[in-house]
This record gives sequence, C-alpha cells and structure tokens, in this order.
Amino acid sequence: MTEKEAISYLEIEKISAEETSVGKIKIQMCEEAIKALREVQEYREIGTAEECREAVEKQKPKSPDYEGDGYADGEMVYDTWICPNCRGRYEVDYDDYDYCQKCGQKLDWEG
Ligand SMILES: [Zn+2]
Repeated sequence: MTEKEAISYLEIEKISAEETSVGKIKIQMCEEAIKALREVQEYREIGTAEECREAVEKQKPKSPDYEGDGYADGEMVYDTWICPNCRGRYEVDYDDYDYCQKCGQKLDWEG
C-alpha cells in the first residue's frame, strides 16, 4: 500500500467513524495518521536532510587535486585534475569546468 492509498483509506475510515457515536477517538486517530503521512510525503518531495546538506556542501568551492604522469625539463607535468568530492578524473587545460560534470561539486581554481 502506498502512502497515498493509506491516506484514502484513512479518509474513508474517518467518514464511517463519524456515523457512529463511539467514533470520536477513531476520527482523531485517523486525522493524526493522515497528518503524519502527509508530512512524510512533503518530506520526500523536499529531499532528506542528508541530501540538502550534500547540496550545500557542493556549492562551496573546493580545490581540485592534481596528478602528474611524468617529468618534462625536470618538472612534474600535471595533466590530470581530480574532483575533490567524487574523485572524477579530468584533463588539465581541457576540461576546465566550474562544476564537476559527474557530481556537481563547485570547483575553486584559485586556491
Ligand atoms: Zn565530482
């Protein structure tokens, strides 16, 4: 049963409870359950607190890591940069994105 179906059944329960004289507690019970389920539905639409925290984290620019693959004129040549969040690998001077194309991490090219 989905939350939506559960809400429908509870609404029906509530209406039938109204027709009886001992239905008052049952009505309250249904109302509370409907309220709780609706909150769950809203919460799912917004996303979890964890997802929100992650989205905020990704908006904070982070410096990429570099990886070299050899030496040229005695200096290390860094031809790969690595996303600090998802460790996605990109080519230096070619894939110069403001955001990681794999995870959306904002990148700080100054630091
Ligand atoms: Zn990434």
